[in-house]
Amino acid sequence: RSVVTAASSSPAVAAVATDVPGTMKAWAYEEYGDASVLKLDEAVSVPAVGEDQVLVRVAAAALNPVDSKRRMGKFKATDSPLPTVPGYDMAGVVVKVGSQVKNLKEGDEVYGHISEKVLEGPKQFGSLAEYTAVEEKLVALKPKSIDFAQAAGLPLAIETAHEGLERAGFSAGKSILVLGGAGGVGTLVIQLAKQVYGASTVAATASTPKLELLKSLGADVAIDYTKDNFEDMPEKYDVVFDAVGQGEKAVKVVKEGGSVVVLTGAVASPGFRFVVTSDGSVLAKLNPYLESGKVKPVVDPKGPFPFSQVVEAFSYLETGRATGKVVISPV
Ligand code: NDP
Repeated sequence: RSVVTAASSSPAVAAVATDVPGTMKAWAYEEYGDASVLKLDEAVSVPAVGEDQVLVRVAAAALNPVDSKRRMGKFKATDSPLPTVPGYDMAGVVVKVGSQVKNLKEGDEVYGHISEKVLEGPKQFGSLAEYTAVEEKLVALKPKSIDFAQAAGLPLAIETAHEGLERAGFSAGKSILVLGGAGGVGTLVIQLAKQVYGASTVAATASTPKLELLKSLGADVAIDYTKDNFEDMPEKYDVVFDAVGQGEKAVKVVKEGGSVVVLTGAVASPGFRFVVTSDGSVLAKLNPYLESGKVKPVVDPKGPFPFSQVVEAFSYLETGRATGKVVISPV
């Protein structure tokens, strides 16, 4: 690849850009496929910074199932062109700001989900890289009480949890069943429902070893899906939030007039599916809850994985057994 350097003949430009090299290490793939298509490239051009963007020195990144689905070519029709540097989630330090950036400056510690839309034209140069360029509106200042690894795991999952609860019209006093309570999204749906929205009852499903985690996050009822079928139980909920792909069963336990949010798989009436939109203002709104510890990031204890082990980290995520977020740190 060609090395793009900022006008090195001009001393003025060189002076502001001295800390940012022309090339960086990044994980990339040139063809769709399983995790083995990922290669560590030592000389990818550092992305150019648009006028509404900041360049972030990535300290930590996190993986999402959508990274895997995209790499498998499931969204080929609307994807960015190959080669791809994958990764939506990151936390790091602003090292450059575009001319129209209003509220961020060099040195700010930020976190965010870097592609406004995950499926339609996601960024070609993602967060599994030493540097990534992202619109100011998609990021927020990192809560001081959490570290980069914890922050990196939050954006896509917490924005999905928040958007799903909003779209379902969730509010204080309502009950909710979270399918997939121990995953990246589920751990945050439980906490937001309980701590931010004031749910009356939060129930969630997981396998036996993860039931204690569900309770520690605020679930009133932890259902062991290896022993009980939630759809055969008598309880009905105002909202069912399906992060597993059980849309047809989910509608059996919703109250009349209630909502069923489906993130993946089949949708049955009255369920609905949506695709998350990245929005830094959601992170900013939730920051006080993160700062105070009312809402806690859950980082999978098998990680954080070092940057050299992104392939191993993806293979682990793709077992479907991760607890909370699979995080890459340090980058
Ligand atoms: P994760 O990989 O973090 O989920 C893993 C978790 O799922 C594990 O803890 C596992 O627990 C749990 N799980 C697996 N099977 C079941 C089951 N039958 N019942 C209960 N829990 C189960 O995924 P995410 O949370 O990040 O994402 C979940 C899904 O939502 C993915 O398909 C993802 O692509 C999609 N998604 C869609 C979005 C959208 O905008 N539409 C946005 C974000 C995610 P255990 O080991 O106990 O089985």
